[in-house]
Amino acid sequence: MNIVILLGAPGSGKGTIADRIAAGDTASFKHVSSGDLLRGAVAKGTPAGVEAKGYMEKGELVPDTLIARMITDVIAETHGDLTMLLDGFPRNVAQAEILDKLGVPVKSAVLVDVPDEIIADRIAGRRVCPKCKAGYHVKALPPKVEGVCDKCGGELVIRKDDNPETVKDRLAVYHRETEPLVAYYEEKGLLRKIDGDQGPDRNAAAFKAAM
Ligand code: AMP
Repeated sequence: MNIVILLGAPGSGKGTIADRIAAGDTASFKHVSSGDLLRGAVAKGTPAGVEAKGYMEKGELVPDTLIARMITDVIAETHGDLTMLLDGFPRNVAQAEILDKLGVPVKSAVLVDVPDEIIADRIAGRRVCPKCKAGYHVKALPPKVEGVCDKCGGELVIRKDDNPETVKDRLAVYHRETEPLVAYYEEKGLLRKIDGDQGPDRNAAAFKAAM
């Protein structure tokens, strides 16, 4: 197994890109979203979920050890010759160092570049399926039937932390905590960059070519 890291602000389209690539070739790719893992734990009410909930609602990062443990578990239970598309982890330099210590080769870290001005608009239109985790956008990527998931028929919802106030905080956290990873992976010669404002199909194609 090896790892490709998706870097980018909240709302940059990392999840949509990873979903498309993984759905197109399930034998070669596995999409792992730290946010989905955490939301799953919150929904189930596990001890980790109970601890994470407050941080997530405020748009803050959950403690490194909490999310690192979840990612370590997923990596440990993943076998075979595939590429893990790691979406949302690492989120700061300390987490990147934890990942390095796990010893799984990182093939590349691809920055999905979208200006902050566009992000707010994107997140305002974002809808997700709580059942199967599929992501939509009311304008850019609408479901066939409004409010209903194409894949599983689930009822689409707005994420709690997608309100404009929390989005501002999440963007600030991104610039302060996560953006230093660009230099971190650049120094290792692993950084790639794509324009994340080309529409879902072309974004995914550009990512696949860059990774
Ligand atoms: P996301 O779905 O990636 O936007 O993540 C949603 C929320 O989960 C974030 O705002 C954080 O509160 C939390 N989260 C996700 N990934 C991480 C991580 N690697 N480290 C810390 N907190 C995280």
